[in-house]
Amino acid sequence: MDSLTAHNLLHVWEQGHSASPVRRALSLLVIAHPDQPWDALTQLSVGRRDGLLLSLREQLFGPHIASVTHCPQCQEPLELNFTVDDVRVQGALGEAAGDTPEAELALTVNDYAVQFRLPSSGDLEAVAGCFGENEAQQRLLEGCIVAAQHRGEACAVADLPEAVVAVIGDRMATADPQADVQIVLSCPACHHEWQSRFDIVHFLWGELHAWAQRTLVDVHRLALAYGWGEADILAMSPQRRQFYLEIVQR
Ligand SMILES: [Zn+2]
Repeated sequence: MDSLTAHNLLHVWEQGHSASPVRRALSLLVIAHPDQPWDALTQLSVGRRDGLLLSLREQLFGPHIASVTHCPQCQEPLELNFTVDDVRVQGALGEAAGDTPEAELALTVNDYAVQFRLPSSGDLEAVAGCFGENEAQQRLLEGCIVAAQHRGEACAVADLPEAVVAVIGDRMATADPQADVQIVLSCPACHHEWQSRFDIVHFLWGELHAWAQRTLVDVHRLALAYGWGEADILAMSPQRRQFYLEIVQR
């Protein structure tokens, strides 16, 4: 894809240095889908966004994912090897960015009728400044609930009973399964089993960070050896850059 150049990726990395994870995710999507307006990308549900980021990860670094974690019980290091497809949820919302607006969902539970939509990056960003998880959850709910009625009368989000809120949360999770990918892990040393969330935003940003550092070191070496400018070195294909680096290091 033409927009996924070394120059653009380094720009995203640089701009995202002190940005929130939501902003980082969005700026990655912007270069992966330059035809989509910013608003359309911010309105994608979190799961749809994460599905697109998984595809981006595959384009940038391939389908294989290797990572290391530690057993929470005995601290044994555990190597994880899986593929992008292993964490891509079957039946999750479609991949295309922006072509279909997020559908409104509705449910009736007890005497309450609620219309709502799935949380998006825009919603997450709006609650980023909240103090504490409870306030953030409440604000997120208020942002995503389009309308609520109790026995036909309009009802404030704050007046919804906990049981109704829990059902809404469950429906959101079921409708957007890519938003919360859990990996089941088992420790070979102590046989402890646990679940861990695979956070594609955190993971991909970590990879981008490592790639950016390697790339800048390469730029430094080639600039020093040949006197070429940064833009010219970045415009080369990775293969050509690697070829010159091997000559320099002989
Ligand atoms: Zn263990």
